[in-house]
Amino acid sequence: MESNQKAVTTEGKLKDIISHAKEYGFVFPSSEIYDGLAAVYDYGQYGVELKNNLKNLWYKTMTQVQGNIVGIDAAIFMHPLTWKASGHVDGFNDPMIDNKDSQKRYRVDHLIEGHASALEEVGNKQEAALLVEKMNSLLAKDDFDGLRNLIYDNKIACPISGTVNWTDIRQFNLMFSTKIGSVAEEADVIYLRPETAQGIFVNFLNVQKTGRMKIPFGIAQIGKAFRNEIVARQFIFRMREFEQMEMQFFVRPGSELDWYKFWKETRIKWHAALGLPTEKLQFHDHDKLAHYANAAVDIEFEFPFGFKEIEGIHSRTDFDLKNHQGLSGKKMQYFDPEINQNYIPFVVETSVGADRLFLAHLCNAYTIETVGEGEEQKQRTYLKFHPAIAPVKAAIFPLTKKDGLPEKAAELVEMLKYDFNIVYEEKDSIGKRYTRQDLIGTPFCIAVDHQTLEDNTVTIRHRDSAQQERLPMHEVHGRIAYETSFKRIFEKL
Ligand code: ATP
Repeated sequence: MESNQKAVTTEGKLKDIISHAKEYGFVFPSSEIYDGLAAVYDYGQYGVELKNNLKNLWYKTMTQVQGNIVGIDAAIFMHPLTWKASGHVDGFNDPMIDNKDSQKRYRVDHLIEGHASALEEVGNKQEAALLVEKMNSLLAKDDFDGLRNLIYDNKIACPISGTVNWTDIRQFNLMFSTKIGSVAEEADVIYLRPETAQGIFVNFLNVQKTGRMKIPFGIAQIGKAFRNEIVARQFIFRMREFEQMEMQFFVRPGSELDWYKFWKETRIKWHAALGLPTEKLQFHDHDKLAHYANAAVDIEFEFPFGFKEIEGIHSRTDFDLKNHQGLSGKKMQYFDPEINQNYIPFVVETSVGADRLFLAHLCNAYTIETVGEGEEQKQRTYLKFHPAIAPVKAAIFPLTKKDGLPEKAAELVEMLKYDFNIVYEEKDSIGKRYTRQDLIGTPFCIAVDHQTLEDNTVTIRHRDSAQQERLPMHEVHGRIAYETSFKRIFEKL
């Protein structure tokens, strides 16, 4: 009974977060008026602010703060040979299985993992772990018959039809294709990029030469990626159109595992510095290494549906540059003056999904608290984002609409609006206005009252504690700047 309740609560929490995200302007289903499009989402007015803050922070960390990393913005469309060289044309396949009754197709690992999660929810942790272990070892050997037997032996049924009437396991390519050129002309098939990394690899020499970059150095990029995910699940965790923040770090061959260790530690600290609790973050070493990697780890966050990947760190060897050199015929080499040698650099990659990071922060921030005593007791819902990523930094409220308070509040707006995203509100009681800001995670609400007219002080109300303090108006800008400072985040790294 207890574990059943846990299952309901876990699922319930994600549902609550999804409805909160929609109701308060964070995430909407794409083209909702036409009933939406599976696994595609739009970001609303507060969602876009939160996502931009996360992206800016990542970009600043990589480029401005790190020092030896520069950014680029490559096109989504790339020459089709790119995807041949990267291995995506031949290898970007996931084993799939179809249920003959529901006609639904599933990624084999998702189907089995789903069953394992259900086992875990009802307390069979050991059984679940064993199942995942068996699956990983079969996946590592590409043993499709073994995987199919595992599904049958564990009576894993289709969630739609409830039957175990499965087809054989087959592989499907996850890349979206389209055609370039007008229909009348000879059209060529090209792909929507399934990762942003290749835009970096093909520009490696352009950047290295024009920027006179010396190894070790990195190239960072934020951009859209597209994957025809067969099973769209868990809200913005698995989308068909999503955004990646990837950084390729080019190093001298032989030093890649040291850099891999460096980036592994640096990246998990970054997530913690931004407010994800360390107990909700963990490493997960890959059991099956991708075709390009000699070491790989995921940073996982504990979502309401369990620990799942938010970022991958891969030691990609010289796989990509070597293949691009082979297919393009262009040398991808670097002359290292320190050792007087030419070589193809090795690469350590950090790759984080902006949308998954967004979801991790949303889940972590979503807080329901019981406040008050006895009859006065009620629930308060708020989003406790780190102030640096909160969509709105401060809300300015004149206590009333008269007595010159709006005019005084306008002075404060003028002092703040160039540096911070702020909102101004004069409608409704101050209590209601506080609640509205709590629901979108605004860390500071600043009230302008009659005392302000006399001594130029305002009250600043802190979201998490709901405590208020009085502050001279001219100190407000400095206080918000301090609380939202990027520097303070980086200092923790
Ligand atoms: P998964 O195993 O969950 O499919 P992956 O290992 O294929 O992910 P990578 O190719 O390593 O993912 O991509 C790097 C990052 O991009 C992931 O850590 C994740 O944050 C993000 N990402 C990948 N696929 C998706 C998707 N379909 N929707 C949203 N984000 C994604």
